[in-house]
Amino acid sequence: MAINSTGRPTTPADNQSIAQDVKTFSGSRGLLQAEPLLFEVGATDKCGVDLPRVPEHKTRLGGLERKDAIGLPGLSEPEAMRHYVRLSQRNYAIDLGLYPLGSCTMKHNPRLNEKLARLPGFADVHPLQPQSTVQGALALMGELSRWLCAITGMEAVALSPKAGAHGEWCGMMCIRAALADRGELAIRRRVLVPESAHGTNPATAAECGFEIDELPADATGRVDMQVFTDKIGPDVAAIMLTNPNTCGLFERDIREIADLIHEAGGYFYCDGANLNAIMGKTRVRDLGVDAMHINLHKTFSTPHGGGGPGAGPVVLSKRLSAYAPLPYLVRDGDQWQLIEDDAQSQEKPFGRLCAFHGQMGMFTRALAYMMSHGADGLRQVSEDAVLNANYLLARLSDEMSPAFDGACMHEALFDDEFLKNTGVTTLDFAKAMIDEGYHPMTMYFPLVVHGALLIEPTETESRESLDRFADTLLALAKAAKAGEQAKFTNAPVLAPLQRLDETQAARHPVLRWRET
Ligand SMILES: *Cc1c(COP(=O)(O)O)cnc(C)c1O
Repeated sequence: MAINSTGRPTTPADNQSIAQDVKTFSGSRGLLQAEPLLFEVGATDKCGVDLPRVPEHKTRLGGLERKDAIGLPGLSEPEAMRHYVRLSQRNYAIDLGLYPLGSCTMKHNPRLNEKLARLPGFADVHPLQPQSTVQGALALMGELSRWLCAITGMEAVALSPKAGAHGEWCGMMCIRAALADRGELAIRRRVLVPESAHGTNPATAAECGFEIDELPADATGRVDMQVFTDKIGPDVAAIMLTNPNTCGLFERDIREIADLIHEAGGYFYCDGANLNAIMGKTRVRDLGVDAMHINLHKTFSTPHGGGGPGAGPVVLSKRLSAYAPLPYLVRDGDQWQLIEDDAQSQEKPFGRLCAFHGQMGMFTRALAYMMSHGADGLRQVSEDAVLNANYLLARLSDEMSPAFDGACMHEALFDDEFLKNTGVTTLDFAKAMIDEGYHPMTMYFPLVVHGALLIEPTETESRESLDRFADTLLALAKAAKAGEQAKFTNAPVLAPLQRLDETQAARHPVLRWRET
């Protein structure tokens, strides 16, 4: 045990083996609280606030109003507060530790972003307020657009998509509208999608009515150029390509891919989820991209996953900008205006994507992040993200098996070769990481790599934090190879919940706490 200079222990006592056997009277364990379900603590006749009785009134719901009691438990304010804090203690969060989930860019969200997003002029505006009363908020959206266009070199940006997948749909609908405008929608049916693509890419293309034609990867994990060239034809509408791709590798032939697709009359949709690797280093316009979504919640640090909503603005090339959906922002002297309908529009919007204008809170956080980093800071973000991933790739390669040779971009990809004949699978390995205090990396994605483990540390981890993570993974890999199979197949044993029957949970979800 480490002791400090005044003789006090600096590490917790090693009594884990005793702790495992301790049964407590309360069900709580140490400071981790046991908690019954809200339906058990709360009561339907309990209310946390004093509200006046609702006076007699006539409803205007045409008989559709609920007749029975709703049956939701009421809680006092401290009970409600404790419930969520207790739940949060059972959960993993980026504010708790390294979150290596590949393709998700789980980086720290600076609290400055939160402070600015809570300014009442941004947080409390109503989407139906007259535009003259929200000029500041519109100006912020205009400034964010300027930054997004400057970072990518693109012509225009559609701000309203509310996630990456929504942005993909927006971009592909622009491509669809452009093809329809050219009178070629009926003949251009095929969209080329690499087999390493995120599942949302083929789903988007299918949702927009296209046929998906899969592109295989070559031995280096990149688009197989021979196959790609063979597949190009007059019936191709577009290619959807991620760069750097989901194997964490830069598509070196991207310029040639763009030129070939353009020569054939198709469009280039780029999945921009991995912008964190190239921001400030590679200009998207120079790659020949026609449309690309930007996950503000990944690259620009706005909280996501369990932590908040997303936002997936789409930048568009000159060839597509006219088709951007309503509403879009224009500036007339000092005044900002949202163009809300076709009659007002001088362009050819493909329609309206969502009820209002997008996620104001995310816009504010993302712009705060950009402006506090500045152009040079954003470039350094990419450089550090790539450096951190390569540091892990180098350290982990001693015991784990990299999926491809050479350096990576902002994420390090391993296959399960190092687990061969150990009886431990990628899933078991990930579960054992939970016992060690780490959220697992992305598993079994991309599909082109057997038993894939995709690690994205992001730039916000320190060298010390990366070392602790690498030491843990190396120790786990050694343990697997040393035949300690049970350590993995039983894991997690120290988590609040152990291994769940995920199949049953998906097939037969129990969504009510009691039958009636
Ligand atoms: C995250 C991600 C998406 C989808 O973005 P969402 O915001 O989750 O809808 C698409 N492609 C890739 C490569 C991603 O990592």
